[in-house]
Amino acid sequence: MKPSSATVAKSIRRVHRAPAPHWVGNGFHVNSLFFYDQDAQALSPFLLLDYAAPRTFAPSSQPRGVGVHPHRGFETVTVAYQGEIEHRDSEGNRGVIGTGDVQWMTAASGIVHEEWLSSAFNARGGTLEMAQLWVNLPAQAKRAPPRYQALTQAQIPVVRNDGVTVRVIAGAYPDAAGETLAHGPAQTFSPVDVWDMRIEPERRLDLALRDGYTTILALLKGSLRVHGETHVNAPTAILFEREGSVVTIEAGAEGASVLVLHGEPLNEPVAGHGPFVMNTREELVEAFTDYQRGTFVRSRATQG
Ligand code: MN
Repeated sequence: MKPSSATVAKSIRRVHRAPAPHWVGNGFHVNSLFFYDQDAQALSPFLLLDYAAPRTFAPSSQPRGVGVHPHRGFETVTVAYQGEIEHRDSEGNRGVIGTGDVQWMTAASGIVHEEWLSSAFNARGGTLEMAQLWVNLPAQAKRAPPRYQALTQAQIPVVRNDGVTVRVIAGAYPDAAGETLAHGPAQTFSPVDVWDMRIEPERRLDLALRDGYTTILALLKGSLRVHGETHVNAPTAILFEREGSVVTIEAGAEGASVLVLHGEPLNEPVAGHGPFVMNTREELVEAFTDYQRGTFVRSRATQG
């Protein structure tokens, strides 16, 4: 890249090294790369990222995963790197997220679902590696009907250039000059780019980003040097300041796997607790009350 005089680097706002991993249910042993209890406005529209590093499961006939639970007000994006995840939800969707696939689930007005290691995968055993991202919804979309996008590996375009492989899950991936190289298949409610990148050892690149957008580099594996000076090891999330339009990264000796999250900030209040993320405390109370009363999900009979 030949930076013009107008090109300003986005500086690092915060480096968040993941704490020790914890279990979600009995199937997902995850590192919490970031969570909106800290810096919610700076992270917007992103809320949370959990990463389950490769882990081998012995064959089992006992279900492993998370049983019935609700979500309202946001989207969950599940990326299966290795292994298979099975889900069922109150909209009648069920399916398997296979290796390389992504599930983009819009909880919006309310969904109740289950997430398991697939029964076939659980029976034969094997290595599971996955990530789950939570993307917030603009206020006017929090009451929208739930939606479900099963994005298969084959639907996700891959850009390969000079030791860098990018799977474009959402939004558009530009080259260093800002020209779009590929569009991702996910439909989103606000402008969001999700790039799943693998960088070969010691390769360096300039990411072309938007001034004013939130940028998070979730380093899942390996190590990175940012702007030629800050060295970070996985698992770590690097949150950048909004100002600026370029981030320069260089992979360490083992290379790096990075999930790049880039989006327009929502600039709306965030009130969240457990599986619900709304704008106000009153809406959170309403969500808990609806769930207790059994009025949480829309009636199947009224679905269009
Ligand atoms: Mn869930």
